[in-house]
Amino acid sequence: MHKIDIELIEMTMDVMKYTIDRITSTKHKIGKPQTAVDLKALVGETVTASGVGGEYAFNLWKKHLMNANVPIDHPRNLAFVPASPTRAAIMFDLVTSASSIHGAYWMEGAGGIFCENEAMKWIVSLTGLPKGAFGVFTSGGTAANLSAIVTAREYWRSLDAENNSRKGLIITSIGAHSSVKSMAKVVDADVLFVDTEDVMYGDALQAKIDSLMPEERKRLFAVVATGGTTNAGIIDDLSGIGTICEKEQLWFHVDAAYGGGALAADSVRHLFNGIETADSITIDPHKWMFAPYDCGAVIYKTPELAKKAHSQEGSYLDIFKDEGAHGFNPTDYQIQLTRRVRGLPLWFSLAMHGTDKYKEAVERGLELAQIAGKLIEERPFVELVRAPSLSCVIYRRIGWKPEDYTHWTYENHEKGFALVTPTKWKKGDTFETCSRFCFINPDTTEEDIKMILDSME
Ligand SMILES: *Cc1c(COP(=O)(O)O)cnc(C)c1O
Repeated sequence: MHKIDIELIEMTMDVMKYTIDRITSTKHKIGKPQTAVDLKALVGETVTASGVGGEYAFNLWKKHLMNANVPIDHPRNLAFVPASPTRAAIMFDLVTSASSIHGAYWMEGAGGIFCENEAMKWIVSLTGLPKGAFGVFTSGGTAANLSAIVTAREYWRSLDAENNSRKGLIITSIGAHSSVKSMAKVVDADVLFVDTEDVMYGDALQAKIDSLMPEERKRLFAVVATGGTTNAGIIDDLSGIGTICEKEQLWFHVDAAYGGGALAADSVRHLFNGIETADSITIDPHKWMFAPYDCGAVIYKTPELAKKAHSQEGSYLDIFKDEGAHGFNPTDYQIQLTRRVRGLPLWFSLAMHGTDKYKEAVERGLELAQIAGKLIEERPFVELVRAPSLSCVIYRRIGWKPEDYTHWTYENHEKGFALVTPTKWKKGDTFETCSRFCFINPDTTEEDIKMILDSME
């Protein structure tokens, strides 16, 4: 099974050239999903006892399957949190895959892990965390949040043996990402919400803590603030929350999976003040640091605490912890054992372009949100629901019902023109359906935004 034709390598290069070429271009349409039944009808049986052959399978991919995916980096893909991996990072992702490095332990993956750590040093420097803080790359924000919550919970249990029999409790706001609630479920902790989708302020957090019954207060071990909510780009009052966590002796986690890239942007860096007091931070390089999927990161103020929580034991693993093998072992700081060195593509791109280019690309996303805000204000048929925040813009088409938004989304997607999806915004006790842009790709143009808005008229 090690045999491969030179033609197959060339075909791989062709697909790569196509992918790299399409990045800044709107001449390609936004692909759309087809049903599994339709795809099956196009490609037939592919996994068979004797194999269909590499060239045949590859052609099926190129002809039918490749375009049944939505390019997350299309300049008019402004849905959810899109992405825009650099060409350099995409290319090096291929090198990363081809190298198949075991990235759990320094003993096996020193070269790859060294590069990951160089990239990590830059990310950590953006946070302003004190000396000694460090992190590791994870499969994404969800895995990073889980790794941080487990560390927080284990630390809390280490403080008092009675905490071993208590069910943990976390406070966050309703603006927090769904993964916080789901990962709390994984560790069997309860979640209480500060009832705001807007900025969670220190006062509101304090009031929530003060409202707890004594037994509940004993169960509380962590607060999760958001550094750029996924829906609206809102940054919680990180310094106020940090101060309260310090006073109340609670673990302070900042989920900046989406917003973390903006730490590099001078124009908004001050909005994150207080993040340097966090015990742990989640940042997704595959969102606003232009890395390909999948690449998240979790950073700890005191990595030793993560090591206590995550380091795996096993007789066959002892050798990795031996003095002779000593080095930084990424497996010790998050939930995975075997892992790919998924920070390697980011490292190559950072090394090639320099960090200033990253700053500029993030600033452009922020600027596009401001431009979109202005274009919305100029048009009588749409209005802003709230001022743009980071690179998110929530706006309404005056007079539209929820189904009008859905219909418009499908119509644009069907045409291969744009992907802009509806969202909801909490207004008092009700949720209003609105439209939302999230800008990541610096190659989105003002013209793209105008065309999308005008298709709503
Ligand atoms: C996207 C996001 C996550 C989840 O990250 P994945 O990489 O999709 O697992 C968590 N928190 C926030 C704030 C996010 O924006």
